[in-house]
Amino acid sequence: MTFQALLVEKGADGAVSVSIQDLEDSRLPDGDVTVAVEYSTLNYKDGLCITGKGGLVRSFPHVPGVDFAGTVEASDDPRYRPGDRVVLTGWRVGEIWWGGYATRAKVKADWLVPLPAELSTRQAMAIGTAGLTSMMSVIALEKAGLSPLKGEVLVTGAAGGVGSVAVALLARLGYSVAGVTGRPETADYLRELGAETIVDRGELSEAGSKPLESERWAGAVDAVGGEMLARVLKQMKYGGAVASVGLAAGAAVPSFSVIPFLLRGVSLLGIDSVMRPYDQRVDAWNRIAADLPMDKLEAMVVEHRLSDLPALAGKILEGKVKGRVVIDLNA
Ligand code: NDP
Repeated sequence: MTFQALLVEKGADGAVSVSIQDLEDSRLPDGDVTVAVEYSTLNYKDGLCITGKGGLVRSFPHVPGVDFAGTVEASDDPRYRPGDRVVLTGWRVGEIWWGGYATRAKVKADWLVPLPAELSTRQAMAIGTAGLTSMMSVIALEKAGLSPLKGEVLVTGAAGGVGSVAVALLARLGYSVAGVTGRPETADYLRELGAETIVDRGELSEAGSKPLESERWAGAVDAVGGEMLARVLKQMKYGGAVASVGLAAGAAVPSFSVIPFLLRGVSLLGIDSVMRPYDQRVDAWNRIAADLPMDKLEAMVVEHRLSDLPALAGKILEGKVKGRVVIDLNA
């Protein structure tokens, strides 16, 4: 049997190339569960892996795709049987292990999560790593004491994948949401998802000279990092919390100051979805099935096929992808 895959190869000159190929099943990696992949998606990391940037892919040829949803075809593990619907995110699948940009994937059973009955495989990938991480951020903020009564919640990188899902989730949970975007043309889209206030990226992209500013946000989901994170910390209300999810503007925060922690008791919560323990993944998937409005999710989705990925990879690295890109492996 064969399967179709997006294969990233590295030539003798170091140049990375991408092509769609039919591969023999014997080329599938070791693993306990074989999954017929129905949908995958596009995340920032996928952009890096498809283009060979960032040093994430160590061994070529490689099949990227950091997440996928599909149906079990064969299993050597008692937890899964043929016909079970499963979802996979993280565990460095698509980076150091072959991932979801293929019609068939073979993975460790430990990496899979049974798909909640309420979700289709397409919806699971409309959510994907980005959406799951947004849910994990909201759970972390709730544990830190955030509630709608405490005040406005800020989402940075709002029109991106993590940001879009965070806006829709928080609005559904009754929060007053402000979204930061550098794309004014996405304002109607963000309002449709539930944002009450649109903040221009330019207002927050410089850290500013003051150690603290007027208290504005009770909580924040930050997909951007860089100087914007330093600025957001300065605007947090007393006792507020920021979930640090991403680094779209960079990993370094040159103007970082501990003053918001010391004078306002602000918390900075690190969010990792990749190595997250199984029980917390299951909880997050179940929460997202219950709390994410599916009509809003559909409004975020653009569907593509494998052959569109090389072009899309460049777009997501430039911050030009809006919402969630779903890849239909059977298209
Ligand atoms: P997207 O590219 O879809 O979204 C990122 C958004 O950030 C863009 O849409 C844009 O939003 C904004 N942005 C981009 N460049 C800049 C910039 N230079 N300055 C300010 N804002 C910028 O990516 P994802 O939503 O998939 O991922 C967002 C981040 O979260 C990435 O860094 C990713 O690696 C990280 N991530 C982390 C995870 C974890 O486990 N911690 C899991 C998943 C993602 P707008 O146009 O609205 O301004």
